[in-house]
Amino acid sequence: MGLNVIMMGAPGAGKGTQAGRFARERGLPKISTGDMLREAIKDGNPVALEAGALMDRGELVDDATIIAIVRDRLSKPDSRPGFVLDGFPRTVGQAVALDRIMEERGEGPLVVIDVVVPEQELVRRLGSRRICSKCGTNAEPGKTECTACGGELVVRTDDDGQVVVERLKVYERATRPVLDYYRSRSTFRVVNGAQAPEQVAHDVDSMIDDAAASSGAAGRAAGERRTNPRVAESKRA
Ligand code: ADP
Repeated sequence: MGLNVIMMGAPGAGKGTQAGRFARERGLPKISTGDMLREAIKDGNPVALEAGALMDRGELVDDATIIAIVRDRLSKPDSRPGFVLDGFPRTVGQAVALDRIMEERGEGPLVVIDVVVPEQELVRRLGSRRICSKCGTNAEPGKTECTACGGELVVRTDDDGQVVVERLKVYERATRPVLDYYRSRSTFRVVNGAQAPEQVAHDVDSMIDDAAASSGAAGRAAGERRTNPRVAESKRA
């Protein structure tokens, strides 16, 4: 069974950072719809350029386009042992489509992690966020160039004041219902994203391992780093 993880959270919650770290450590592909769209825009893909206008306004790209991108990406063999989704699903329609894709794959349940951060902290983080203009990596605090590739650090076009407000509104309207869609599943877990990054990482790891183990989908990756399930259990929201 695969270790299939969805990292949920509002813009600025740190889900992309946690998704990237977890995927690297477990040797799974991180599938970020935001990153895929930004790369396709850089390559001048016409569909992506249209999507780029919506992204710059903080609006969502249409379900059909995004679902097609994810379906195609999940058909690649590297996602067979599992994957970490970042930025998808963002609407209930996308979540329903993902369930269908998972049924077709027959590769075990989805582990859903919701990284929760209070709104004023989200606004503060997004206001000070810088990313690398070359590779898109989030900048480390206090650095003047990208630690991954040395590229120039810039403000992401959709991290500007009013657009941030719009993205948070869109999150509440379109994406919060996705959490309700998943909340009753035994593999749904909540992590406090306002803690120190190492603590968030620790909680994310133990929640994922616990959820995967309790669903019988532990697989090789999760089985290697099992933590005390009762500790994770007591933090379940
Ligand atoms: P963040 O999580 O910080 O808001 P992302 O990089 O995940 O940023 O996404 C940036 C933008 O890309 C979104 O505001 C939206 O316009 C578009 N996008 C990414 N993923 C999706 C998705 N699953 N559905 C619709 N639009 C998406």
